[in-house]
Amino acid sequence: MPTTHNLGFPRIGKNRELKFALESYWQSHSSQTELLATAASLRHTHWQWQQGLDFVSVGDFSFYDQILDASVMFGNLPARAQQSDGNTLDDYFRAARGRASKQDSACHCSAAEMTKWFDTNYHYIVPEFDAQTDFSLHAEVLLAQLEEAKQQNLNAKPVLIGPVSYLWLGKSKDGSDKLDLLDKLIAVYGQLLQQLAARGVEWVQIDEPILVLELSQNWQHALRKAYYSLQSAKLNILLAVYFGQLQENLQLACKLPVAGLHIDAINAFEEVEKVVTWLPFHKILSLGVISGRNIWKTDLNKTLQWLTPIYQRLQARLWLAPSCSLLHVPVDLRQETQLDAEIKTWLAFAVQKLAEIKVLAQALREGKNTVKSELADNAAAMQSKQNSTRVHKAAVKQACQAISCDLEQRQSNYANRAEQQREKLKLPLYPTTTIGSFPQTNQIRAYRRDFRSGVLSQNEYQQAMQREIKICVNKQENLGLDVFVHGEAERNDMVEYFGEQLDGYVFTQLAWVQSYGSRCVKPPIIYGDIARPAPMTVEWSRYAQSLTAKPMKGMLTGPVTMLNWSFVRDDQPRSLTCLQLALAIREEVLDLEQAGIGIIQIDEAALREGLPLRKNQWQAYLDWAVQAFRISANGVKDTTQIHTHMCYSEFNDIIEAIAAMDADVITIETSRSDMELLDVFDEFQYPNDIGPGVYDIHSPNIPTVESMITLMQKATQRIPAERLWVNPDCGLKTRQWDEVEAALTNMVQVSQTLRK
Ligand code: GLN
Ligand code: ZN
Repeated sequence: MPTTHNLGFPRIGKNRELKFALESYWQSHSSQTELLATAASLRHTHWQWQQGLDFVSVGDFSFYDQILDASVMFGNLPARAQQSDGNTLDDYFRAARGRASKQDSACHCSAAEMTKWFDTNYHYIVPEFDAQTDFSLHAEVLLAQLEEAKQQNLNAKPVLIGPVSYLWLGKSKDGSDKLDLLDKLIAVYGQLLQQLAARGVEWVQIDEPILVLELSQNWQHALRKAYYSLQSAKLNILLAVYFGQLQENLQLACKLPVAGLHIDAINAFEEVEKVVTWLPFHKILSLGVISGRNIWKTDLNKTLQWLTPIYQRLQARLWLAPSCSLLHVPVDLRQETQLDAEIKTWLAFAVQKLAEIKVLAQALREGKNTVKSELADNAAAMQSKQNSTRVHKAAVKQACQAISCDLEQRQSNYANRAEQQREKLKLPLYPTTTIGSFPQTNQIRAYRRDFRSGVLSQNEYQQAMQREIKICVNKQENLGLDVFVHGEAERNDMVEYFGEQLDGYVFTQLAWVQSYGSRCVKPPIIYGDIARPAPMTVEWSRYAQSLTAKPMKGMLTGPVTMLNWSFVRDDQPRSLTCLQLALAIREEVLDLEQAGIGIIQIDEAALREGLPLRKNQWQAYLDWAVQAFRISANGVKDTTQIHTHMCYSEFNDIIEAIAAMDADVITIETSRSDMELLDVFDEFQYPNDIGPGVYDIHSPNIPTVESMITLMQKATQRIPAERLWVNPDCGLKTRQWDEVEAALTNMVQVSQTLRK
């Protein structure tokens, strides 16, 4: 019979209990004992929900991040975070966020770097290495959790990041080769496995997700070395790979001396057959048949159809699981009481996904008849989604089909446009601007809340927001900025705001997914063809512009970012959904222009996030992503200036695609990397205007005039002054007004000084 298991469960809790417990502890409002109690109760509940699986995962709980947990377990926490007071959880928080709590007596240390977990929106804490790094085992936390699970009578399978992926994911601080540390690290893993075996652990899951990436021979060899060394452990290793195809690593993965292999049968569906064939007979094969990355129900009947012959071949060697950890999906659909009833039948969150696994296993084990009603319900849901007129809109499909190259073309080239825009806008050299949002004060949040709950009428709400816009415009006037924004007071979130006004989007109330630490996001769901029934931002922008003689930037979220920060429908290519979004944004751009808005910014904060894991698939993605942006932006007149904004500092490798977007002005994050980013302009002549962010908005520190001038001087070495803008590196909504005013006062002075 197929064995069922899980690769990992979300730890935040269905009502984000962990978030609130963490933040309360960090604020010194609660004790560590209280925090630990919340964590234990969450684990208890989450295991409860996994009851009925043959194995539940242990070690997937984390107070901040599972890679940081591994750093603790292997004695590799940065020294600067460690205090000798024996409070290891505080050391851990210091590494994660620079400070354990408000009462932290230790001085702040710089938090470790954080970066994206493969192609997900989850961020992990980057391990730090140098040539001297030593490892030592600190498995107490994991062992204690193992004990907890046992007390709940569960068959526990510890989950660990593999040694080779752990090294890969980290950063060498002194330029030494991380692989030189492999032997030392393997030794500690060996000790760990020994301890687990001694506690009766039968199976351990070791994740080596880097097997879906392009690996050099050294790294491939490291994998061989690691697993040949660990094979003497007296327990079974299930090597887990997810998020993509193995491709040239397929044989390597099949041959490593472990007891079992897990592959992502959603993203690497085409490889299942090959792996079934290649895998040695003594190994079990775990197939991730339920997507751990999206919120759609699995087509169970279709899955059974392809799974049945595989089961006939593998029998007890077949295991079933979600494709990857369920960390990337919300917890429980049952809580969504306000969700449209029909759409709800199409969805499955973590709890529901585990139920799907059980149905599949039972159908294989005991025959489809034993789960007849479950399969029938599933078929009905699939049918309803396939045929729904809410999903399929003829007009949208026609508009997509009618897309031609000229939708992508501006009337003139950049040089020509720039000239016309100079003429019209009459901006000074080094124009100053901001990225869009201004502080989201408690007052603003209260207005939005009261409007939602009906306390404020539409009219009252509009007046309140207009007051806020006015405050924001006045402040910019006083600061002496050159290009204004309206401040985005009416927006809760840059994707949600637009999604709520577009057809084809649906919103949940509690479908939170962890982004990093205590931060969670609630991605909206694109379930159907996208259409824009009415203008979305025009009235706010028009009002804002009416208050000032300075140009007011219209502010939109771009199609690629809308896509990458949403759960996306799985019944058509992402590229097509993106084109639909592009057409909707294009209509908005043209309406803004019509309303007299001469500068329009289309944020593509998440363009980079959509890059496929494998470089050989990048170009295909960039092609349609850039096309979508161009379609959204390029319907305007030459005199209308298009801006875009990206908030990350590494785009050396996609600079050509960014140039191909052909925005008149791009603002980017550079301050944190000390303008390192601009190195790319030594080799690549970026043709258009650029605003390299001159200060880090994530920090409460007020940037000095000198520091910003230094940064701008670095920029002027690469980019002609006529094409440079001066701006912060991202939106200001998380900051306080006093910080913002002080920082922008200095920033405006930077421009004035540079002009002289
Ligand atoms: N216009 C948005 C803002 O200022 C951009 C946010 C972002 O880049 N993440 O808030
Ligand atoms: Zn940004």
